[in-house]
Amino acid sequence: MSDLVHARVLNSLQRLRLGHVAERLDALLSEAAKGEPTYLDFLDRVLGEEVSSKQRRRIAMGIQIAHFPAVKTLDEFDFKFQPSIDQKLVRELATGRYIASAENVLVFGPPGVGKTHLAIALGRAAVEAGHSALFVSATALIATLAKAESEGRFAEQLRFYAKPKLLIVDELGYLPFERRSAHLFFQLVARRYERASTMITTNQSITQWGAVFGDDVIAAALLDRLLHHSHTLVFQGESYRLKQKKKAGLLGSPKTKRS
Ligand code: ADP
Ligand code: MG
Repeated sequence: MSDLVHARVLNSLQRLRLGHVAERLDALLSEAAKGEPTYLDFLDRVLGEEVSSKQRRRIAMGIQIAHFPAVKTLDEFDFKFQPSIDQKLVRELATGRYIASAENVLVFGPPGVGKTHLAIALGRAAVEAGHSALFVSATALIATLAKAESEGRFAEQLRFYAKPKLLIVDELGYLPFERRSAHLFFQLVARRYERASTMITTNQSITQWGAVFGDDVIAAALLDRLLHHSHTLVFQGESYRLKQKKKAGLLGSPKTKRS
């Protein structure tokens, strides 16, 4: 009889898509037999396990969909190397609240200072907070949009990039845009404006955007939309990698063990 009930419970758990509890059923039951929790505590334990399992899976899937180029987290980010960065603002951005109000984030700074690191870390934080995110380099984004346009699929491609609640466009400005590409990018920014958040990292200051986009009018129209509801982070200083190398140099050559 109890075998029958056990089988029925398993079946019900599977039908309700409570797969994690179905897997852990025997362990949960024997744990409960030992600890003798109240009915409510037992239910709490069972449901809590399923909720956190689903949460972990959702985050793992969201991170996969986001296509981050590397694993970088805020915990690994050394704020001491970047005293110019407002740590309080970064912590606030990590809550993902700006995404609910479709605000943008612009990250400026020279190469190697940690812009991409921070963008990935904030992207992960956004996924953990329950938002969809997509990471793309500016070069790949433009190439994809241009290809779609030449193949008559621009509207479809635009919808794809318009969809994520947070779109991270990395390394804008390393290569100047052709005029046509600048226009395609403008359409994407205009589409996302006040609907979804866009985060941009760039090595070019705002005054140079005209040159990047090959057109002052488009650059101004882009900046108008991007800056309207936005947060800016300005990185300064020298490359983190170079700094690490210099530090290593100061410490001398690899130590030999003394016995
Ligand atoms: P950028 O995008 O500004 O060119 P990256 O984010 O690619 O720079 O940083 C270069 C490397 O240095 C990466 O491996 C990154 O993890 C590391 N890095 C940069 N700044 C920091 C920092 N403040 N704390 C920890 N690692 C950092
Ligand atoms: Mg970068």
